[in-house]
Amino acid sequence: LSGRSGQPVRTTCPYCGVGCGILARPDGKGGAAIAGDPAHPANRGRLCSKGSALGETLALGTRVLHPLKRNARGAYDRVSWDEALDAVAAGLKAIIARDGPEAVAFYLSGQLLTEDYYVANKLAKGFIGTPHVDTNSRLCMSSTVAGHRRVLGSDTVPGCYDDLDCADLVVLVGSNAAWCHPVLFRRIQQNHTERGARVVVIDPRVTASAEEADLVLPLKPGSDSLLFAGLLIHLADGGLLDESYLAHHTSGFEEALANARTLAPGLATIAEGTGLPAADIAAFYRLWAETPAVVTAWSQGVNQSAQGTDKVAAILHCHLATGRIGRPGSGPFSLTGQPNAMGGREVGGLANMLAAHMGYSAGEIDRVRRFWKAPNIARQEGLKAVDMIDAVAGGGIKALWVMATNPAVSLPRADAVKAALAELELFIVSENVLSNDTLAAGPHYILPAAAWGEKDGTVTNSERRISRQRPFLPLPGEVRPDWWIICEVARRLGFGEAFAYAGPAEIYAEHAALTAFENEGSRDLDLGAHAGLGRGDYDALEPVQWPLPVGRPGGTARLFADGGFFAPGGRATMRPLAVPALASQPDAERPLLLNTGRIRDHWHTMTRTGLSARLSAHIAEPVIFLHPRDAERYGVSEGGFARVATEHGAAVLKVVLDEGARPGAPFAPIHWSGETASDARIGALAQAACDPFSGQPELKATPAAIAPV
Ligand code: SF4
Repeated sequence: LSGRSGQPVRTTCPYCGVGCGILARPDGKGGAAIAGDPAHPANRGRLCSKGSALGETLALGTRVLHPLKRNARGAYDRVSWDEALDAVAAGLKAIIARDGPEAVAFYLSGQLLTEDYYVANKLAKGFIGTPHVDTNSRLCMSSTVAGHRRVLGSDTVPGCYDDLDCADLVVLVGSNAAWCHPVLFRRIQQNHTERGARVVVIDPRVTASAEEADLVLPLKPGSDSLLFAGLLIHLADGGLLDESYLAHHTSGFEEALANARTLAPGLATIAEGTGLPAADIAAFYRLWAETPAVVTAWSQGVNQSAQGTDKVAAILHCHLATGRIGRPGSGPFSLTGQPNAMGGREVGGLANMLAAHMGYSAGEIDRVRRFWKAPNIARQEGLKAVDMIDAVAGGGIKALWVMATNPAVSLPRADAVKAALAELELFIVSENVLSNDTLAAGPHYILPAAAWGEKDGTVTNSERRISRQRPFLPLPGEVRPDWWIICEVARRLGFGEAFAYAGPAEIYAEHAALTAFENEGSRDLDLGAHAGLGRGDYDALEPVQWPLPVGRPGGTARLFADGGFFAPGGRATMRPLAVPALASQPDAERPLLLNTGRIRDHWHTMTRTGLSARLSAHIAEPVIFLHPRDAERYGVSEGGFARVATEHGAAVLKVVLDEGARPGAPFAPIHWSGETASDARIGALAQAACDPFSGQPELKATPAAIAPV
């Protein structure tokens, strides 16, 4: 480990998509001192509460340290790696021989490193021959992927974090960045206080992010695309379009504008549909129109919606129509939730992608097949997360390998998910920790995977910046890296030659070579400058933004200011949008709309942040944030307990009165699981209605009832 020299190890935070650089100084006793890396462009030395508490989360008490096999009594026995890997490979072989490759599925995670993701995707789609590879990133940013691909032509974030420093207006849509992307929010705050940039926050809930905003628009859930359709009309009618940009670099504007006029025929309609005062809407439109340097940044309030793709498109349309894209301080910007959701997208770890930002056209299938020398290339899109679990429940998928995620807590209808997982013929889990609900669903094999501090590879953050996650702790027990586990199974399936990697550097170099293979500038993702990267250069890799084609190793900060979209004719395509609507409406039985999301100091299912007493002190137990009027109406009070129930499940939560909560739309954090004192898996309450393009579920508006306990 490079930390032995006494120098800190430069690595990357394992939590949110900001991707902050970290200096880790191991203490030689299994712990480490943690500090922000001043040289990392994402955070310049800053860390949020979660990142700075990482040193408190390194204990091994909850870790899986040896391969485990479920016995006939449902308990787990320690087995050797050879026994576990042989059995996993034999089980997969038998199911493939009997039911075909599509009876096998992989459910991956934005917590995996790019190298782990790459080999899992390659094994499934190129060698086993199943397209059923999806990821918890489906719950996170798949609507942005779909919106980018439909409108921009590729899944490319046009801008960079520096834009947040030099924008004159930052619009946050469906994002509580103050809690969920704190280091970026700090950059926005600094721009606000030092340069006088204006900040607008658009969110049904008035959150910490709204505290210093110049304008707060607490719109009705599900009405975002109506608001932005109105903005497009305002820009058109005010003569504020960039006609040259529209003419040379886009298509579909007239259709998109005509569609906007049917959706948002006047300010009164928009005011009614969004529930916002007409004067506030007009003020927002004026501010946006008058400010050339505007960044519109969004997160899960836009993505986790049955119309998330349209919401993304509605925002992109306004930026395209004014040419405000890829310019310093100006552009649409997706704030990714997870540390490596982007890297997963890049290798093709989504069911609708094949590999390296390529889909399933005949040419793309052939290109990837030849590059991998793949004997069993998948030939059509696979099942997205919700459909994948439905196929498990229906018996179509017989073997599932879950890596680094906890679907029995995080997927919608989580009780049904848990029940479906328990019925699998072969259920494999690669995990760090023992205490989670997916393990309680009874996997046949638990494979102990490396955790942060031990992992060695790369991640990509929200601004397309690839950074190294470097190890600074030894692998404990019999723990192995995910890529190694996958390659060992591949070898036992007879694919050893294609998975004979010496380490993550070779995997990364192959991934980079695939992005550049027969590319010639025709695809956005090009890491050609890293194709064939040696171990020394890989170890020394500085954070860099893709595309980085051959000859441009310094990467690319911004794209599309002069068009050049990775689409036919180099043009972006503006699209008509569906009538804005929620998937489900409240009714007399379930009069509320349950909103869900993260809190400031916990991450996902708390397997790591739950180890820090300091972080747990922020909000110590499962809660529901409720507007005082709702509390009065439904007979619950501050500090009391309430039973919150939906069509899919129920949980008992402590009531927190919150003036910022939208009346009729309480907010429940997602972090607690069935193994805490109260079974408070919020995923068990959430509906699974999905966006038709992205397959992302609407997790922020499930009809619910509340009653005192
Ligand atoms: Fe980690 Fe995100 Fe906090 Fe940065 S902002 S320290 S990446 S959790």
